[in-house]
Amino acid sequence: MSETQDIVIIGGGIIGASIAFFMSNTGLFSGQITVIEKDPGHKNSSTALSVGGVRHQFSTPANIQMSQFATHFIKNCDQYLGIDEAINLYFKENGYLFLATESGKETLSTNLEIQKNLGADVCHLTPDQIQTRFQWLNTEGLSGANYGLSGEGWFDPNALLQAFIQKAKSLGVKFIKGEVCELEMSKSSIQNLKLKSGKSISAGWVINAAGPLAANISGMAGIKYFPVESRKRQVHVFRCAEYWSDCPFVIDPSGVYFRPEGHNFICGQSPNADQDPPTRNSDLDFAQFEDIIWPILANRVKAFEAIRREHSWAGHYAYHVEDQNPIIGFHPEVKNIVFANGFSGHGLQHAPAVGRGITELLISGRYQSIDLSAFSFERIALKKLIRETEVV
Ligand SMILES: Cc1cc2nc3c(=O)[nH]c(=O)nc-3n(C[C@H](O)[C@H](O)[C@H](O)COP(=O)(O)OP(=O)(O)OC[C@H]3O[C@@H](n4cnc5c(N)ncnc54)[C@H](O)[C@@H]3O)c2cc1C
Repeated sequence: MSETQDIVIIGGGIIGASIAFFMSNTGLFSGQITVIEKDPGHKNSSTALSVGGVRHQFSTPANIQMSQFATHFIKNCDQYLGIDEAINLYFKENGYLFLATESGKETLSTNLEIQKNLGADVCHLTPDQIQTRFQWLNTEGLSGANYGLSGEGWFDPNALLQAFIQKAKSLGVKFIKGEVCELEMSKSSIQNLKLKSGKSISAGWVINAAGPLAANISGMAGIKYFPVESRKRQVHVFRCAEYWSDCPFVIDPSGVYFRPEGHNFICGQSPNADQDPPTRNSDLDFAQFEDIIWPILANRVKAFEAIRREHSWAGHYAYHVEDQNPIIGFHPEVKNIVFANGFSGHGLQHAPAVGRGITELLISGRYQSIDLSAFSFERIALKKLIRETEVV
């Protein structure tokens, strides 16, 4: 005998937890929702290993709108997620600073226009203006930068995740520990989910929120091509004798990023495509910091010539290899699966909008606040790709 649930969400990271919250909070759905999570301590989840950034500086309009909702949600999280005590997400609204050389000038200007048209509080800075604002930064070789004046920065990913989970639980969502290892199909629907423990659950809707492992779940449903791969991303924490309280989240033209973390800094860089295989491996490669990242940091900020790496970690992006944008919504053939996958390094900030969007889709059959239909699964087969140029 299998237990029956109206909605089963596979994966209890920020995406699964957000969907669970919005779905249970709508007042328009009274069914039972269960979240199945194999690692409830979130030791290996992307969410817990992310660097917490929220920015409005994207090239895809829906990504900008999702981030704008994230800022609103973060600033009003007590209203959405509060139970008894005030929630502190440690939001640091220091902005993002996207630096560019001459070759990146046009991209900055195109993106600025898209962002400003959507109301993002972003401006362009010339090298002189960068220097005046951030005296500690070397502007040599730069053509300028785009800078987020408000609404952008970073927050504590785990604090938001726990707030979603606690609120969803208080609204009746069940969170169970278990690993989904098989999906039993009947005609073109998922009939039962089998867990490693032997338990079997039947569900009306099955939501794939399995992060970097999303392709495994789709494969279990017989979906052969699902272009989301697990890609390793390293983060290094370093100490510097100097510290600037107004330091933004800086993106160097090389792709190296850094931002303050308490009185330390964190940094990282996505590897080149030819050195970025699909992997679940979390081994650390300290040479990346010593040989690649540090020289770039030291060139950009003189004070970074003398820094000490304190520690490092590695997490995984759910990388959508086709266009680095998410896959959200239904499948044309498998009738009761819903995707929320492939966020390619920006799923933390997009989680509130995705939770709300999927709830709208399931309740009314269409998106009502932000139109996420451009992220449908069908776009892959139709080659209607929407490449995001601002992937860090
Ligand atoms: C180093 C790094 C930095 C990042 N920085 C940012 C940032 O600054 N801003 C931003 O917006 N995003 C950032 N991201 C991306 C962001 O972390 C992810 O997009 C987001 O956390 C995705 O959430 P998720 O719930 O889809 O995945 P996850 O958090 O990975 O959750 C998926 C869950 O599914 C579970 N699961 C998988 N398979 C099964 C199964 N078969 N049965 C049961 N459970 C299963 C896993 O255990 C996991 O807990 C970063 C990511 C990394 C790695």
